[in-house]
This record gives sequence, structure tokens and C-alpha cells, in this order.
Amino acid sequence: MTLDTTTLRVAFGAVAITLFVLFYTVSFRQTRSAYSAWWCAAIAFFFTGTCGYLLDGTVHQVWANPMGNTLLVMGTVSVWAGARTLRTSKPAWLQLSAAPLLTLLASVLDDPATNTWSGGPVYLGMMSLTIGLASWELWRLPSSYSRVEAPLAVASALVAVLYSGRCIAFIAGGQDGYVFTAYFGSGITTLITMVLLVVVSFSAAALSAEQIATDLRARADRDSLTGLFNRSGFIDLAQKEVDRLARSNRPGALILADLDFFKAVNDTYGHAAGDTVLKAFAEVSTETVRSTDLVGRYGGEEFIFLLPGATVSRSEDIARDVSLSLQEHTTPGRLEMPTVSYGIAALDAHDYDLDATIAAADQALYAAKASGRDRAVRATRPAGSKGSRSA
Ligand code: GH3
Ligand code: MG
Ligand code: MG
Repeated sequence: MTLDTTTLRVAFGAVAITLFVLFYTVSFRQTRSAYSAWWCAAIAFFFTGTCGYLLDGTVHQVWANPMGNTLLVMGTVSVWAGARTLRTSKPAWLQLSAAPLLTLLASVLDDPATNTWSGGPVYLGMMSLTIGLASWELWRLPSSYSRVEAPLAVASALVAVLYSGRCIAFIAGGQDGYVFTAYFGSGITTLITMVLLVVVSFSAAALSAEQIATDLRARADRDSLTGLFNRSGFIDLAQKEVDRLARSNRPGALILADLDFFKAVNDTYGHAAGDTVLKAFAEVSTETVRSTDLVGRYGGEEFIFLLPGATVSRSEDIARDVSLSLQEHTTPGRLEMPTVSYGIAALDAHDYDLDATIAAADQALYAAKASGRDRAVRATRPAGSKGSRSA
């Protein structure tokens, strides 16, 4: 059986345009996620690029062949860009445009009027590289992200391997070499790509719905002014962390921080200046703690820290460092930063109860305020506090 490339390309075009319409109406219009936008772009590029090849052998081949190569590489670059949006939202335009530009240049310089494989090695290499990068991006997603990212990563990796095989066979034996025509020719590749396009479109629909859900969850957990966790976001994560500490019998500490005479900042310099101070505190706090520590805005000008593995005296050092950094922090209006009072409570084998630890830290914070502010006070637990709760 010989696979007729032109027929397969027409079939590919029909499948691609059907997928585009379905994916656009079902997934993109409903989710409007960045991932589905890039996937729509990818299908559109695959479709137009393949259409370009249908002009091979006509007078239009001189521009249509380089255009086909470039559009197909733009398609795989879009797959990569889409995968990137699942982790970071910033597309690196320079990185994204490099592969299509190189492909275009190589094709244009390689006699595209008569050569249907103009710039072949560069085109095949770029296809392999960009789809491989997409696969790599998908692998790097946290395993909690979604159940469809693994099959997507595998499908992309398979296409990347296929294209690197084509690239090697092309360089070694040329476009008419036995290995290239028998195993890596246009017919078989078009067929494989068509199947994968369908598989990936279905997974992509699921993934873009997931992206929206993750985004909404992230927004619900965060305080919009400081970017820190809000109270409920912090409590959710802190509870999980405390459970982990309890299981491994490791210590931890909790800090409640309250800015001193913060109302005076608002009254003297205005509410916007107050907001600047809150953001400054959030910034110096996150810079001071470790990446495994949790920081949240507990409410108003009150903040909360969970420091897994830390002792109370280590927490006192952290509180002092936060206060020092806040005083050194400069703002455009050269605002004078307020001092801060802290209440610190330990989490240890005696007590892994988050609510009780927060209550103890709150009492200590009250004591810090009462004894003159600008200091950290350790909580003293009422004896038998654990017994009464576990009864
Ligand atoms: P103390 O040292 O006893 O803590 O005094 P304080 O002035 O810091 O405490 P108080 O509870 O009297 O005032 C807190 C102020 O924080 C009152 C409120 O208007 C202000 N505040 C709460 N949330 C925000 C906010 O998001 N932005 C700004 N600018 N101010 C806020
Ligand atoms: Mg205050
Ligand atoms: Mg307060």
C-alpha cells in the first residue's frame, strides 16, 4: 500500500479545520483560557501550513513551500507557548519568533522554486526542537495540576522523536534516501500527526478548563493588595502543613504580626500611603522567610507566618529581621515605616492544634502591645490546654 501524500494532506486539512471549529466553539469560547487560545492558533497554523504544501509543483511553490514550513513551525511554537502559559503567563516573544524566522530564512535560501524540501533539515530540526520544548514544559508542571498533562507530554515527545528521526534520516541520506522515504516520508508523518492532533485537541480542552479553575482558585486564595495568602487561603495551607508536621513529629512556629499605630499612617499620610506600607511589609516578609514558610494577611494590618521546622528563638530572629528590613525599606514618598509587634507560639509534640496556636500567638501579641509595642513576645500556653481539647 502506498500512502498518497496529496490525498493525506487534503484529509489532514479537513480534520484540522473541523477540529479548529469544534475546539473554538466548545473550548475557547467557553474558557477563553490562554492555553486554548494558543491551541486554536496552533491548529490554524497546521491547517494553513499544510495548505501551502498543496501548491508544490505549481508556479506558486516558490513562496508557498517556505510559507508552509514556516507556518508549521509557528504551529509547534504555539503548542510550546500554550504549554508555557500553564506555568508562567509571559510569552518570550524573541524566543518564540526565532524558530519560524530561521526556518523561513533556510527555506528561502534553498531554491524553493524547484526544491519541495527547501530548508528541509532546518525545518525538521525546528519542528523537533519546539515540540520537544512543549513536551518538556508539560512534564515540568506540578503533578497535582491535572491528569491529562502526562498523555499530552508523551504525545508531544513522540512527535518530537519522530521529527528528530526525520531530521537525522534527511541529513544522512537526503530526501530520496531509503530510510527517509520508507519510514519518515510525508505520507506517514501526515497520518501520525493527524491522529495526534485529534488526541491532543481532546486533552487540550480538558487542560484549558483546568487552567481556568486553577486561576480562579489562586485568586480566591490571595489578598489582592499584597499578593499574600488571605486568611482562608493561609488557614487551608497551614492546616495541611501542620498535619504534615504532626505526622513527622517535627516542630514549627507561628507568628502573628501587627503594625504599630498603623491608623496614624492613614490619618497622617492618607489611605494610599497606608496601602504602600502594607505592601512593603508583605514584600520584606516574603523576602525574609524561606520559600517553604507560609505568609498571609490575616486581616487589616495584621499578618500571619507559619514556619515549619523553626523554633521560637529562630522565629524571634525572623521577626527582628522583618522589622529591620521594613525600617530600611524605601518608598517613593520616603514614608516613615511603622514599628511592628509580634506574638509567637510554638507548634510541637505537645500541641499541633492550629486554632489553639493562633489563639496563643494572639494573646502574646496582645501582651507585646500592652508592654510598649515594637517587640516580640512568646506565648505561654495554659497548662493542660491540649488535654481539654482532646477530651
Ligand atoms: P495598634 O498599634 O494598637 O495596632 O494601633 P493601630 O492603629 O495599628 O490599630 P487600629 O486597629 O486602631 O487601626 C488599624 C487600621 O488599619 C484601621 C484601618 O483603617 C486600617 N486598615 C485596615 N485595612 C487597611 C487597608 O487595606 N489599607 C489601609 N490603608 N488601611 C487599612
Ligand atoms: Mg496595629
Ligand atoms: Mg490590628
